[in-house]
Amino acid sequence: MSAYLLEHAWVDGRVQHDVLVELEGSRITSVTPDGDLMRLSGVATPDKRMNPRSAGDSCTRLRGLTLPGLANTHSHAFHRALRGRTQTDRGTFWTWREQMYAVAGRLDPETYYALAKATYAEMVAAGYTSVGEFHYLHHQPDGTPYDDPNAMGHALLAAARDAGIRITLLDTLYLSSGFGAASEGVQRRFDDGSAETWQERVSALSPLTGADALIGVAAHSVRAVPADALKAFARYVADGAAVHVHLSEQVKENADCVAAHGVTPTRLLADHGFLGPMTSAVHATHLTDEDVRLLGEARAFASFCPTTERDLGDGIGRARALQEAGSVLTLGSDSHAIIDAFEEMRAVEMDERLASQARGHWSAAELLAAATADGHRSLGFADAGAIAVGQRADLVTIDLASPRTAGTGGDEHTAVFAAGAADVTHVMVDGKVVFEGDHAVVGRSLDDVIGRIWTS
Ligand SMILES: [Zn+2]
Repeated sequence: MSAYLLEHAWVDGRVQHDVLVELEGSRITSVTPDGDLMRLSGVATPDKRMNPRSAGDSCTRLRGLTLPGLANTHSHAFHRALRGRTQTDRGTFWTWREQMYAVAGRLDPETYYALAKATYAEMVAAGYTSVGEFHYLHHQPDGTPYDDPNAMGHALLAAARDAGIRITLLDTLYLSSGFGAASEGVQRRFDDGSAETWQERVSALSPLTGADALIGVAAHSVRAVPADALKAFARYVADGAAVHVHLSEQVKENADCVAAHGVTPTRLLADHGFLGPMTSAVHATHLTDEDVRLLGEARAFASFCPTTERDLGDGIGRARALQEAGSVLTLGSDSHAIIDAFEEMRAVEMDERLASQARGHWSAAELLAAATADGHRSLGFADAGAIAVGQRADLVTIDLASPRTAGTGGDEHTAVFAAGAADVTHVMVDGKVVFEGDHAVVGRSLDDVIGRIWTS
């Protein structure tokens, strides 16, 4: 057993002080606000390990504000290699996609592992304790499967394990360049040929020994999965498994869908049995009122990725309308133009302000719920995202005396509206300390790996 005394912590929907948290292995076994300081008189010396109770117990004091683990619900790990390199010149989502394909064409299982591990390490250093990896880069450049048809998926699972982050690997069905057209170029690496062969490959995926991982599934989009395959896909989804899909990120996708099927992408998914309480609609940017209603009635998650949507010029989704209709907001860093959960949280509110010319659509507590418990639930980790008895022991501590956070009050508004990834000082995932404040070492590793990919 081990114990932590948290100077300030987000517990039961509010910031509490001197919170004693006890752990047994990977689980939280007790949470005592106001620290019971009589029993812990030895804690007067900050940051020292001590034995306040009995031999074998240890208590570590964490200064600052400790949050539950943050969930990154939408990631394409390899897009990290594009940061700073695609923000030049003019263009659209579609021209950006060509640059993204150039990176996808360079990777093999070994380089994919190295890039994903460095990217996941950046996530851990930003306070993310789980990632939903939307994985579609499956095959060799000509489309032939590797000897292990899941070599790329297994590389991602190993990368997450070695970086110390939990993962839900969302193995993605991709069959078409667009509404039935054959996959071309690098897309051949994504394409399994049919929903049946995709399902066979996915059933051979195995979480690695020592990895805390779940296998979920995704359909890339209504562009890349024809309607009959959507139907087959829905049949293969196990009860309770996480199901993700890119939805209406682009106006052109909506127009093409209406031209091909006579309905919006959301209606198409609804008609093929795709929407439910474990479905995550990723982006959900350009929705009709009926789309919002359908997603809300299904209680589907809406996985917004504000920093990517901003970077790609996608548009501003109707986050509040979705939540009011019954959907549940979650947050992802998607293309990793930025990896910063704090920025994603506040961006939801800031974007609504820009769109509506009014302030105060989301409370900080609601945005924290999206980034923690709700995000974890959408990845299949219903037992993570809260500092509470029985939950996975994830603790994310931020500095309250940095240039960004100093003087901001030290409560949930500091976390959501002031802090940044650089303020994270300590991260625990499943009872294991995986980050202790050395952001520079994370940067060096990314620099090395990405440099090699671009010069290879
Ligand atoms: Zn995506």
